[in-house]
Amino acid sequence: THFGFDTVPENSKEKLVGSVFSNVATKYDIMNDAMSGGIHRLWKDHFIRKMAPLPGTKLLDVAGGTGMPWSLYWDIAERFLNYELQKYNDSKSTVHMVDINPDMLNEGKKRFSNSIWEKNDQINFSVGNAEDLSFIPDNSFDVYTIAFGIRNCTHIENVVKEAHRVLKKGGCFMCLEFSKVHNPIISEIYDVFSFKLIPEIGNIIANDRDSYKYLVESIRNFPDQETFAKIIRNAGFFVSSPGYENLTFGVASIHTGYKL
Ligand code: SAM
Repeated sequence: THFGFDTVPENSKEKLVGSVFSNVATKYDIMNDAMSGGIHRLWKDHFIRKMAPLPGTKLLDVAGGTGMPWSLYWDIAERFLNYELQKYNDSKSTVHMVDINPDMLNEGKKRFSNSIWEKNDQINFSVGNAEDLSFIPDNSFDVYTIAFGIRNCTHIENVVKEAHRVLKKGGCFMCLEFSKVHNPIISEIYDVFSFKLIPEIGNIIANDRDSYKYLVESIRNFPDQETFAKIIRNAGFFVSSPGYENLTFGVASIHTGYKL
């Protein structure tokens, strides 16, 4: 596959993203490891602790994607259910997982079918676009999460507006995403790592330099922390100041907004 990454017309971005993730679906965990040096696991653990969900929480995890058998926990959904079980012995909390790509969702289903959650009804899956969740009623979830998913969406404003619509009053929007490194020294190291090394790693691991190059570009094209916080505020969320937390020098950040 050869993509003209810098010249992708808007309306073909969804198709491109679809094929990128079909290409990398089964190698996905390796990719996340490569991009973050394995640190995405710690970021996700931190993300759930920060969420601190109470028993009986209804979570909508958008762009839920996949997890691989060797991961300790399965991304956001499994970490969430595990937190509820460990902390509150709660098995009433639920996760609805949405992903645009059926391959990614299937990896997730497979993963769940081999887990302790296999025989309960705490999780369900839908194929769907984060920009249009019309199959989900207004005011229906306590927490909305999107981890490493929003930068792949064409109109992130629509994603955040939909998040606002489906959350209950008092509900919380939480986004974990690659972000901007502002420290000039770290930033230079990070540039070499992502522009030079990551596509090579992608080539070696997945024999697919282009998909990995796309992923690096998508991180660069995503708005910085302050701009993204503004977008969340503009969608109607209450966002405190600054409204985000940098992780690992801003390589990733967590943005939070509340529906009042
Ligand atoms: N949330 C998981 C995690 O944290 O590891 C998976 C993230 S993976 C990098 C990105 C996911 O976003 C893929 O599964 C992809 O199919 C999904 N995705 C991309 N565009 C989307 C959209 N418009 N709506 C819903 N999901 C989307």
